[in-house]
Amino acid sequence: MIILGAHLSIAGGLHKSLELAMKYRCNALQIFTKNSNTWKERHLEEREIEKFCELKAKSQIVKMASHTSYLINIASPDDVLWKKSVSALKNEFIRSSLLGIPFVVLHPGAHKGVGEKRGISLVSRAINKVLDETYSTGVILLLETTAGQGTNIGYRFEQLAQIAEAIENKKRIGFCLDTCHVFAAGYDIRNKTSYENTLAQFDSILGLNKLYLFHLNDSKKPLGSRIDRHEHIGEGFIGYDAFQLIMNDARLKYIPKVIETPKLKNGIEQDPVNLERLRNMVRETSATSKNA
Ligand SMILES: [Zn+2]
Repeated sequence: MIILGAHLSIAGGLHKSLELAMKYRCNALQIFTKNSNTWKERHLEEREIEKFCELKAKSQIVKMASHTSYLINIASPDDVLWKKSVSALKNEFIRSSLLGIPFVVLHPGAHKGVGEKRGISLVSRAINKVLDETYSTGVILLLETTAGQGTNIGYRFEQLAQIAEAIENKKRIGFCLDTCHVFAAGYDIRNKTSYENTLAQFDSILGLNKLYLFHLNDSKKPLGSRIDRHEHIGEGFIGYDAFQLIMNDARLKYIPKVIETPKLKNGIEQDPVNLERLRNMVRETSATSKNA
């Protein structure tokens, strides 16, 4: 069994993401629970929640995550923006809890010039506050590895470890590894040796037992470019082999994996194509090992 899916659209209603997930034979799903490009909050109506939960029960989905809005910046040195971000993050936890979504994925944020140390302290302060105020939800926050564009924090595993260390309720914090981001940040995964080396670093600094989600994306930009541009699986600078290694790694078998690859190519929907590519990687290897 592989736990594989995609970040899918909620255009037309939250339940639409589940319809797409069923169409694409996903058993993992990531969504935005609101418009990700505005501060405007979304109040969930009871009927909307019911509709979502009923359809989820009929679907094959075993793991779900929500991704926070891109505007949230809990590393912001601007007090107004920091408070606004904390409040938006808290609302994300509440919506996720109402929808039965156990994980909220967050980019740690950008320090905007005040330095990593100050940024990291702002991030952990915000997380402690939100976890405390959403105690009853039990929703787990996943800090995502970043490409390190601009002043973004989270492009070194050590930075994520520093944030996690300062979190009081450690049971409610984990990590999400984005293949495009780690590669752009300088962690090579293109062959067996570099892949094993990166995974070993992740394990010793953050712990594979705290890795709850993968974002499987190829990269439009080269190793160490610090630029975050997702590409179709196997068509970017990372290439096919890294994904084959991940898909067949027994240590990662029960960690859900979702794609966030570009939606279209030549006007054709690409999510089913990228998902099939990943599924085929698993089959190919099991066939090879049987023959061996
Ligand atoms: Zn991602």
